[in-house]
Amino acid sequence: MTDLERSTREGFASRFNRAPLGLWSAPGRVNLIGEHTDYNDGFVFPFAIDRRTVVALAPRTDRLVRVASSFADEAIELSLDELIPENLHGWSAYPLGVAWALGSFGADLAVVSGFEVYIDSEVPIGAGLSSSAAIESAVALALNDVWGLGLDRPTLARVGQLAENRAVGAPTGIMDQSASLLGRTDAAVFLDCRTLDAEVIPLGFEAADLDLLIIDTRVSHSHATGGYADRRASCEAGAAALGVESLRDVAEADLGRAAELLDDETFRRVRHIVTENQRVLDTVRTLRERGPAQIGPLLDASHVSMRDDFEISVPQLDLAVETARRAGAIGARMTGGGFGGAAIALTPRVLLPVVRTAVAEAFRLAEYAAPDMFVVRAGDGAQGHRDESDSLPAAG
Ligand code: ADP
Ligand code: MG
Repeated sequence: MTDLERSTREGFASRFNRAPLGLWSAPGRVNLIGEHTDYNDGFVFPFAIDRRTVVALAPRTDRLVRVASSFADEAIELSLDELIPENLHGWSAYPLGVAWALGSFGADLAVVSGFEVYIDSEVPIGAGLSSSAAIESAVALALNDVWGLGLDRPTLARVGQLAENRAVGAPTGIMDQSASLLGRTDAAVFLDCRTLDAEVIPLGFEAADLDLLIIDTRVSHSHATGGYADRRASCEAGAAALGVESLRDVAEADLGRAAELLDDETFRRVRHIVTENQRVLDTVRTLRERGPAQIGPLLDASHVSMRDDFEISVPQLDLAVETARRAGAIGARMTGGGFGGAAIALTPRVLLPVVRTAVAEAFRLAEYAAPDMFVVRAGDGAQGHRDESDSLPAAG
């Protein structure tokens, strides 16, 4: 048992005065490439990271639901009869939203048991590493087991997405939950967001002595408001004007016609999505044919496209990317939804100290808050199980 699993079990016991039925966990993710392409029916290429959110959960004999987190002082209580998105607020909308969303995927919310859940996490919140998908995926896996639903992982990803869209109110795509549920060690998840086909592709970072450095700018973002929804609306407007179902249906060869039909801003939003889809395909092909040391230019081009065409970067992200590249990273880009959060820099292991020092110094000179920097490795997706005990503890 990891330290985090132990502390989650203890946290459950001290909040609810009994033992949990089991522990389930799910990782955050980092998106290697493919940004804002998910809700355009396009391609993404994220991987699950070696930082996880753990949930301890036990069913009740009544209809009460109680959620608690190391992240919050108060526990939130609600009857399953009151479980509708309008009643869900703040952080508890993530776990409770998942319980509600399962009702659209086979759970009969009129008869399932209530439960208590305690959540602890080592995924940084709001850093673009999807602590939200980690919590959703862990709770989805736990309730799938405890409620005996038998849903497969791609379906659980859709459950998490529905919770985030409707209970939290963030119009995000399917990428984060897919990475968190399907990830594998030293591999990334190549996801076609139209068909939901997912393929696990080896990264080979370990053998190539490459490390992925996260540079968290600590500029915070919120996807429930503002820019994210705005970009999504631009993409929909672009697709409608071009007469296609989604921007997935626009090829690079169509961009000339798009430039004539669309206003400049919408055209640049469209161009980002179209070229980013191609960069994801090129990254997967390059990994297979030439190895991870050759993908750097694709990461760089992705950042430029997000900075200039999609306009979702911030000066801190641009500085992190430029400085990391100059100091020896083979490729770097902002990652996540944008407007803050983190950049990634794919770096030869021997150059890590140089890159870290250069970025820290550049931020100091620019008088930006010191960034948080750490290496993530591609790890396994969600997992968990009931404790080895056949007596089912119940309360309520
Ligand atoms: P990101 O997914 O990039 O970390 P989001 O804004 O999408 O950022 O999700 C972060 C939110 O998810 C938090 O503000 C909180 O409401 C919820 N959350 C994440 N992890 C936890 C946790 N361990 N306990 C409670 N809530 C959490
Ligand atoms: Mg999130």
